[in-house]
Order: sequence, then structure tokens, then C-alpha cells
Amino acid sequence: MNNTELQESGFPPIWDNTMRQLAVACPRKLYYFLRGFDYDPSTKPAYFVWGSAWEEIMATWYSASQDILQDPVKRATHAYLSLQMGYQVWDEMNPIEKTLNKRSSFEPIWNAYLDQYPYETWHMIERGAEAGWTFPLVGTPYSLGGAFDGVIEVHEPLHGLMALENKTTGAFITKNYIDSWHFAPQVTGYIWYGRKILGDQFIGALMNLVTKNLPGPRSQWTTPRFARVVVTKTDHQLAEFEEQAAWHINLIKREHWDRWYWPKTLNKDDCCGGIGKAPCLFRPLCFSDVNPADVNHTDCPGVSLREGPWQPWLRWGSQDEE
Ligand code: SF4
Repeated sequence: MNNTELQESGFPPIWDNTMRQLAVACPRKLYYFLRGFDYDPSTKPAYFVWGSAWEEIMATWYSASQDILQDPVKRATHAYLSLQMGYQVWDEMNPIEKTLNKRSSFEPIWNAYLDQYPYETWHMIERGAEAGWTFPLVGTPYSLGGAFDGVIEVHEPLHGLMALENKTTGAFITKNYIDSWHFAPQVTGYIWYGRKILGDQFIGALMNLVTKNLPGPRSQWTTPRFARVVVTKTDHQLAEFEEQAAWHINLIKREHWDRWYWPKTLNKDDCCGGIGKAPCLFRPLCFSDVNPADVNHTDCPGVSLREGPWQPWLRWGSQDEE
């Protein structure tokens, strides 16, 4: 949509973690994002497609019933099928391979994953994969939204429900990387919603971490290829999260939407990338001397208009209260 259409559409009533992160990192980027500027599906970067394909492998694998996962023959067939589903995502988007983000790395990583986790002490609940959600923020006209990679039932050592979140990284799985998930508002948001709907039986989030690095013959890694992290939050921490989310959305409305002021980031790495950070899609627009209100998505190579509004919380498994 153009500048006027965005203004007339009104302040978004639902905010997810992506939108909030953009507002923090670079309000100008949020502005383009809200106008619907996004990756052209045919030019999505390889790192992005690799993550989507891995997510498809995970969703397929864990959607199987327990009798499939525990029968060696059925299990092998299903593992093959899961890998093929990942290839399908990769082949449809057909990205240009770059560094670790290659089609050929799925199979060795998938085989190592299956060796690492021959069985689980949890299972995906029915319709638990890719489940979207929204929930009102107390004291505001706004809601938070998001989408679980999965909702799982854990059997031991704890018993209850958890969000499952799959993450792939091109870095190594260091202690700091593992610890960082305890501080991720995206994950806190999952737990906040789960606790609102299901109370104390919603225990937390299980982070399922995978590095895309492949060990060579002389690799001397000191970090794991895979890791699992259980993130839990106290009621006080969730109340703080909720209060801060309301404050933040009100701030975005007051400082950016109402003033129609969308300043650029102060951090050049947000523009051109850095360690573990991809370059911004909208660099050409900010590099040239154009008025953001006047630009069109066709002015920026690799950008197309998103099909429909940004609503990841409306995935098929949506658990919205309607
Ligand atoms: S190029 Fe930099 S300033 Fe421009 S939208 Fe992207 S992050 Fe913001």
C-alpha cells in the first residue's frame, strides 16, 4: 500500500514480536514493512529458506503418531518423507546457495539429528504445529499475536504443555547463544499466551537449537551441534512482560504513528549486516536520497508487495478466541 493507504488503514490493533523488534531496531524499516514491502519470494535469501525448510522437516517429523515414531521401519520411512518435505520448500523457493545455507547440508544434519534424538519424552499435540494465536493486552485496545512452531505435551521429568520453537543458526551453539533464549521476548510471549489460556499446566517453551555448521575431518568443536533449552517464566516475569508490551505499543503509536515520524536506525549493522545479522532489504531506498512517503516497492530491487496483511497469527492452526 502507499503512504496514504497505510495512514488510512489505522494503527494496527495486533502486534507480534517481529513488528515490535522492527520498531526497536529501525522505525524506518517498520514503516516499509507496514506498507507491505517484503522479500520477493523468488529472491528470498538462502539463510531464510534454509530455516523455513528445516521448520518443515520438524513439523512433518513431529506430526507423526507415536506408533510411527517408535516402529523402526515406519520411522525410517517417515524420516525420509520429512526430509523430502524440507527439500520441497527449498526447491520451490530455489535460493542462491551461500556459505552454510546449502541444499546438500540438510541430509547430514538431519541424520545427525535423528541419531541425537532417537526418542523424545514429549509429543506434538493434535493440530499443535504452526498454531497461531492472539490475546488482548490488559488495559489497552491492542492484542499481542504470534504463532507457535508447535505445542507439545511433555511427559518427563515435568508434565504439562510447552511451546516448541525450532531455531537454526549459522553460528556455533555457545553458552551465550543458549542463554540468550531466556531473554527473548518472542519466547516470553509464547509462555505469556500459553499461561493465559491454559494456566499452570503450560510450563514454558522448549527451544530446539540446531547449528548449520558441518564438522570437517579435523574439526575440534567444543560446542554441540544440537541443544535443547527449557525456558520458564514466573508470574511476576509474565506480568512485567505484559506491562512492557503495552508501554511499548503505546510508545510506537505516540512517537511514530501519531507523529508519522519513522527515523532511521542508529546502528549501521542493521543496514549492512554484521555477525549473525543479515543486511536490510531496504538498503537501496535508504542509500538513495528519496522521501520514504514517495517510494514504491518497485523502486527497491528484490522487494515485492506482501500478499495480504502481515498476520502470522492466522495460521491454519489458529487458537484465537473469536
Ligand atoms: S537500510 Fe538501515 S535505516 Fe534503512 S530501513 Fe534498513 S535498517 Fe533502517
